[in-house]
Amino acid sequence: MDPLYQISVTCACCETSFKTSRVRPSLKRAIRSDSDFCSYFKSVNPDFYVVRVCPFCGFASTESFAERLNANQKAAYYEKIGNHWAAKDYGGERTEREALECYKLSLLTAQTVDESIRVIAGILHHIAWLYRYQGNHEQENRFLTFALDAYIKVFETERNSVSNARLMYLIGELNRRLNRYHEAVRWFGRVINDKKIMDAGMIRASREMWQKLREDMSSGGLELPEEMSQNGA
Ligand SMILES: [Zn+2]
Repeated sequence: MDPLYQISVTCACCETSFKTSRVRPSLKRAIRSDSDFCSYFKSVNPDFYVVRVCPFCGFASTESFAERLNANQKAAYYEKIGNHWAAKDYGGERTEREALECYKLSLLTAQTVDESIRVIAGILHHIAWLYRYQGNHEQENRFLTFALDAYIKVFETERNSVSNARLMYLIGELNRRLNRYHEAVRWFGRVINDKKIMDAGMIRASREMWQKLREDMSSGGLELPEEMSQNGA
């Protein structure tokens, strides 16, 4: 059975209908995932097909993008990207390299139409994962840094939303992966100690990473931050 099937999508920019591939739901289960939710699959990676690239104008969006564009956004898109787009069809099977191209197109698209910082953060994080699959640590860390900065902006703009335990955990975790240990401790500590947070999964994950950090810092001969030496959370 072909792991892919095609759906029709209408481009939010040029309003033309085009086909894009998706992975069958039965094959979407990850065999494992990293502590920052980067997932690994037995056969096809469904993440490779998240970005839908319009073959006619190049507008590269995900389901998280706004469904409609206003005239200013369209004009900005055509000026910066659309008018220079050489027709290319990403509707079929994608290699890892093509998946990366699609995510980069979607990053440019999102920036051009001023998509929300939450959407941009997710794209940056996915690009980091694609470099991780390739074993390219330098580019992975570069995009993790961009993603981290974007997640912090999301946190600052959505401060009052209730469901930000996962976001706070991710900010801690990306700091940890980028060896910014003290910042990581601070964010994990917030998830663990904030009485308003009810997300048991994220509290548990934050505790686990806090412990791991403590071990890594101790074995690396690093001085533990004050909040870590006082209690084990
Ligand atoms: Zn289009």
